[in-house]
Amino acid sequence: MLNFYPGPSKLYPDVRNYLVDAYDEGILSTPHRGEQFVQLSRAVVGSIKRRLNIPQDYYIFFTSSATECWEVLIQSLTKHKSYHIYNGSFGEKWCQYAQKLRPKSEGFQFDLNSPMPVSELEISKDTELICFTHNETSNGTQVSPACILNLHNRFRDTLIAVDATSSMAGLNLKMIKADIWFSSVQKNFGLPAGLAVMACSPRAIFRAKQIGEKNHYNSLVSMYEKMLNYQTTHTPNVINIYLLKRVLEDRPFIKTIDLELTARAQSLYNFFGQFTDFKLLVENEEVRSKTVLALQASEKLVDDIKKRALHHNIRLGNGYGPWARNTFRIANFPAITDEEYEELKRFFLHYYA
Ligand SMILES: *Cc1c(COP(=O)(O)O)cnc(C)c1O
Repeated sequence: MLNFYPGPSKLYPDVRNYLVDAYDEGILSTPHRGEQFVQLSRAVVGSIKRRLNIPQDYYIFFTSSATECWEVLIQSLTKHKSYHIYNGSFGEKWCQYAQKLRPKSEGFQFDLNSPMPVSELEISKDTELICFTHNETSNGTQVSPACILNLHNRFRDTLIAVDATSSMAGLNLKMIKADIWFSSVQKNFGLPAGLAVMACSPRAIFRAKQIGEKNHYNSLVSMYEKMLNYQTTHTPNVINIYLLKRVLEDRPFIKTIDLELTARAQSLYNFFGQFTDFKLLVENEEVRSKTVLALQASEKLVDDIKKRALHHNIRLGNGYGPWARNTFRIANFPAITDEEYEELKRFFLHYYA
């Protein structure tokens, strides 16, 4: 089965062997307060920073999902309100959860085909956290490095948190331009779901300590205190942490992966731009995602394409949120090989050209 679903997505085939190794090394039943776990955790934190180009002074944390990160950040880094800039379902959901926890939190919705309108934002001084989604998996848009830089420059005194779930480990992100970045591993990391990685700047940790919120098992300050010794507040997803270490060690550095994905994204956009019965959902090339493509057609055709693809052992991504029925999505993730995209192209040329 070829799998182009944008999460859970195709696993690196090596995962199969890593799983056997994990079993044989006894890591799966080792206590999470013991030396073997701490060694693993320390090693993986080092690999995450090196391989993904994360500044040395950023702190790395493990949670169980990106959704959990949404909650942790609101609970631990805001007392009054956060501000959410979004154009799709994931960003909107984060905003909605924030408003349940902190009713004064605000959302700013922008158009699918527009760059994030940084100069139009009116963010009040008492905003404690600015949140946005780097790669909106629901509609295949992405915030450009220039926009992130503008946001950083315009609101230097406010913490900025970035949901990079479907771009981290695929693209070379300039982490220094925001305080918090997080991603779950079932997207560009090519691993099974159930683990997320979060990177926090020294300033974010300073702020968390100032607020001192410790009402939850996963309060950021508690996570920070445990992580000083490479431990977690609860028994973590050890098998996934192990897989993460192995995958990162065996993959190229993020700079190389970014170059490959960027080139492949361009070729996929060129290819999918040529059809008449369906079109790219995002018309503005500047805001198109490099890691998730969204294609739009009539509901009937979308249904037909997905079913016919499955019949040929090709899994395409369903549409999401408001685009659930009239789009389908194609992941451009590192674990998927160029040959697999060639097969995908042959399928579309054969049936829909
Ligand atoms: C997949 C995804 C999530 C949710 O990830 P979970 O691991 O299921 O919590 C959040 N944000 C974005 C942008 C995503 O693509």
